[in-house]
Amino acid sequence: MSEAGRIALEIDGLVRRFGAREVLSDITLAVPEGKITCLLGESGSGKSTLLRLLAGVDAPDGGRIRMGGREIVGPRTFIEPEDRAIGFMFQDYALFPHLSVDDNLAFGLRHLSRAERDARVAEVAERISIGHLRGRFPHSLSGGEQQRVALARAMAPKPAILLMDEPFSNLDQGLREKVRRETVQTLRALGATAIIVTHDPQEALAVGDLIVLMREGTIEQVASPFAIYDNPVSPYAAEFMGPCNRLTGIWSQGMLETPIGAFPGNLDLPDGTLALACIRPQALSIEPDGAGISARVLGKTFIGESEQIDIQVHPLGAPLRMHSHFRIPMEVGARVSLRLNGAQVHVFADPAQPRPEG
Ligand code: ADP
Ligand code: MG
Repeated sequence: MSEAGRIALEIDGLVRRFGAREVLSDITLAVPEGKITCLLGESGSGKSTLLRLLAGVDAPDGGRIRMGGREIVGPRTFIEPEDRAIGFMFQDYALFPHLSVDDNLAFGLRHLSRAERDARVAEVAERISIGHLRGRFPHSLSGGEQQRVALARAMAPKPAILLMDEPFSNLDQGLREKVRRETVQTLRALGATAIIVTHDPQEALAVGDLIVLMREGTIEQVASPFAIYDNPVSPYAAEFMGPCNRLTGIWSQGMLETPIGAFPGNLDLPDGTLALACIRPQALSIEPDGAGISARVLGKTFIGESEQIDIQVHPLGAPLRMHSHFRIPMEVGARVSLRLNGAQVHVFADPAQPRPEG
């Protein structure tokens, strides 16, 4: 892990206000070099605002940004966007409609000689596999082709860091996954440092080396995909990354005691305090031998790759939701026996935290 420790970008106490509203509050983050960092969050959480501050198309109301050890933004510093070695790929690609693909690629290379520029355009077109599109104009390209041209244009000046704002959100579901896979392959092959904005947790889990979960202008958690999914710091983080069943229990001697079992946790709470368990749907399964928790099937919804099953457990007010990847023969109303995998249960102090929207 010799490169693992290198930091491309240091963000320190960044603040941005619009009028009286603080849209970014004290954002502090180290962006690793040669990795893909995903900025993940609900719409309005401040992702694009942060990206714009990094690109230099907007200035913060406080804080600093350092890039490769050099301050590019600070109380008395503001390096212009074109002097930052940062590439920006816009959500709508923002290709110049009146320029050919080649001229779009050459746009950020005006400082080079004609020969150098031509060589760089040819090189990046080859790398991003758009050589066959070079004479075409943007309107004649498919969505996926436009996306690749936009990527190539952002990469052509060889930026130290590539910023991409929701780069896959304009593509149809079917194409999105393919383009996403190819883009990630390209970025990895180039050893690029990239920050990719997304509101889609599955996209962040699939693409990111590091996930930065944002919440109302603050950073909720920074972690690898496995770590954020397996060890969310809050109910918000747990529920943002995937569905959870919430269950209130009583904290006692290092365990959260609930009507369906006691779960270990790491809470600094006095015994007898109410606390919260978040149980992933896949933590629950139906036992054939009847040795588990006694429950009843309340509803079943077939969703293709799995079946969503709502289960009533007698002492609980609300049903538990589980996902089953094989077909369950029991009908609605049937008595079943439930098993719970405690490794998929997360325990938190605050039982009344608001849920993520959408
Ligand atoms: P995201 O990209 O996460 O959806 P944004 O960074 O675009 O969120 O926006 C964060 C918040 O800042 C939103 O509430 C948005 O309305 C507000 N905002 C963004 N830009 C401006 C602006 N130029 N003037 C006023 N409010 C803005
Ligand atoms: Mg945005």
